[in-house]
Amino acid sequence: MIRNQPSCGGWIEAVCGPMFSGKSEELIRRLRRAEIAGQAVMIAKPRIDDRYDIGHVVSHSGHRIRAVGVDDPGAIVRMAAGCHVVGIDEVQFFGGEVVDALVALADGGMRVIAAGLDLDFRGEPFGPMPQLLARAELVDKLQAVCLCCGGPATRTQRLVDGVPAPFDGATIQVGALDAYEARCRGCFEQGDAHSWGEQTSFAGL
Ligand code: ADP
Ligand code: MG
Ligand code: ZN
Repeated sequence: MIRNQPSCGGWIEAVCGPMFSGKSEELIRRLRRAEIAGQAVMIAKPRIDDRYDIGHVVSHSGHRIRAVGVDDPGAIVRMAAGCHVVGIDEVQFFGGEVVDALVALADGGMRVIAAGLDLDFRGEPFGPMPQLLARAELVDKLQAVCLCCGGPATRTQRLVDGVPAPFDGATIQVGALDAYEARCRGCFEQGDAHSWGEQTSFAGL
């Protein structure tokens, strides 16, 4: 496939896929190359959980790049002033207004690279991602390795005590001890509704 980037003006590149598909690695790779080319790069991620390294985007394989944790997408626009390239990881955790913010940056001439989960643990479109993917010039849908069959994984399985998490659990949980694994369509299991026990504490946003 031949890919041409606009020779004038900005654009949006979206990188999506399930957990472990290499979104953060790919984001870091593109941002490093921009820095090698001498471009001014700003990197942001949502500050939803400060248990993790809020000062960096970190991939599951240990790659990292500095990042600013932000609460609202307006902060991304303010901090991006004067940059050539803006990278955002975990973009699915922002509200719908993140799409307007990233479109404004691209309209203003910036290269915007946004990485995020396209589907939540139920296999449903995640927050602002459908709107973002529709408005992006370039979309890459990455795949992980399915932990059940070894095939290409497009979904993120949430497991609680080894069984599929309840369908009506919170989409975003901070502090819960759930496990996640990459699975293909055939191996993905939908959890039942209202099946969690009293002992499980949810801290959904
Ligand atoms: P994402 O940001 O999409 O969650 P990362 O870029 O953080 O993904 O991590 C990708 C890395 O995760 C891979 O290079 C590999 O080292 C590791 N990994 C762990 N489990 C899997 C899996 N099931 N499929 C593919 N890669 C995996
Ligand atoms: Mg990631
Ligand atoms: Zn599978």
